Order: sequence, then C-alpha cells, then structure tokens
Amino acid sequence: MNKQELEKVKQKALEDHIPIIMDDTLEVVASLLKEVQPKRILEIGTAVGYSAICFSEYLQKDGRIDTIERDEERVKQAKENIKKVEVEEKIQIYQGDAVEVLPSLQESYDIIFIDAAKGKYPFFLAQAIRMSHKGTIIIADNVLYKGYVMSDYNKHKQRTAVRNLREYIAEIMNNEKLETQVLEVGDGLAISKVV
Ligand code: SAH
Ligand code: MG
Repeated sequence: MNKQELEKVKQKALEDHIPIIMDDTLEVVASLLKEVQPKRILEIGTAVGYSAICFSEYLQKDGRIDTIERDEERVKQAKENIKKVEVEEKIQIYQGDAVEVLPSLQESYDIIFIDAAKGKYPFFLAQAIRMSHKGTIIIADNVLYKGYVMSDYNKHKQRTAVRNLREYIAEIMNNEKLETQVLEVGDGLAISKVV
C-alpha cells in the first residue's frame, strides 16, 4: 500500500467535503480488524474509497473487500484512488443502490461496515445478518447522528433518518444473536458481534 497516496486521497476527500470515516472512528475499527484478521469484508457506502483502502491493510493475505456505492462519479474516483494506493486486487466495487445490490450477494463476511443512507439502516442490518456467521462483526457508523438520535429531536426533514437509526439501535440491542456496544466515538459507532 502506498501510504503517501493514501494521505493525498484523504486530504482531497476532506477538501471536497466527502464524509469519510473520522480518525477516532477509524482507530476503533482498525483495532477490531487487527483482532479479527478478516478474510472477507463488506462495506455499504464506498464514497471515494478511503475507508475501504484503510481497512484493506488488515485483511488476511488473500482477503478481499466488497464495497457498494450508488453515485457514479464517486465510484469513478474510488477506482482511481484504489489504483493510486495500489490495492486494486483487494477491493471490488459494486456500483448501484445497496438496496438492490445487497439481496444479490450470497457470501458470508467476517466484517460488515454500514456507512450509507441512514434511513436504510434497518434494511442493511437484516441483509448483514443474512450474510453473517458466528463471530461476524457488524459495524455501523453515524448511528448517533449529531446527537439527534438520543435527544427528543423529531421535527426536522431528517426525521425519517433519525427514526430509522433509533430502530436500528433498538434491533441490535434486543436481538439475542447480537452482542452490541454503541460508542460515542465520532458520529456514533455501533459494534455488534454475532454470537
Ligand atoms: N465509507 C466511506 C464514506 C461513505 S459516505 C469512507 O469512510 O471513506 C456514504 C456514501 O454512501 C456516499 O458516497 C453515498 O453516495 C453512499 N450511499 C448512500 N446511500 C446509498 C445506497 N442506498 N446505496 C449505495 N450507496 C449509498
Ligand atoms: Mg460515516
């Protein structure tokens, strides 16, 4: 991996206001990845590939990441970035709406990272559980959404997102097959282990 190019990818994404994973969030995810040593990672929400590139460092030698992005321009940039950082053989991008792409995937993943449309998190969770096995860790970013999720906030154009994030958190807390932690790191990070 070309770390110098990765730093450029990060700086350009920040300049362009692409919502890439925050440093403190990345630190937490990276320590989980080091522990798990995943062979297969699924990411929902590629943006320009920054998080996928970062995660690829922690894959087993022949491991791979599948990542989904619906925005054509971002897919194009992600492909360029992945090439520049020299991790093309580790990352496969699916272009399309994850709501359509996910049901077509039939694999089992060790790590699933949810980082896309907040209103779709309950659906993404159901799909993540379907493609999990014992020990899979399902990680969801932005679950506290600027604090709205834990406040009595309910009158905003984002209220569907907030309602669905609350539903996501309730589901991971109540599902007996999941051991869950919600961390206040970054914009809120939910970590659920399939037991
Ligand atoms: N994981 C990236 C950041 C992702 S930002 C990183 O940390 O580097 C969220 C991305 O999800 C955006 O690029 C957006 O276009 C994409 N997205 C949102 N809803 C989606 C959906 N339903 N299907 C596919 N991609 C989606
Ligand atoms: Mg995010």
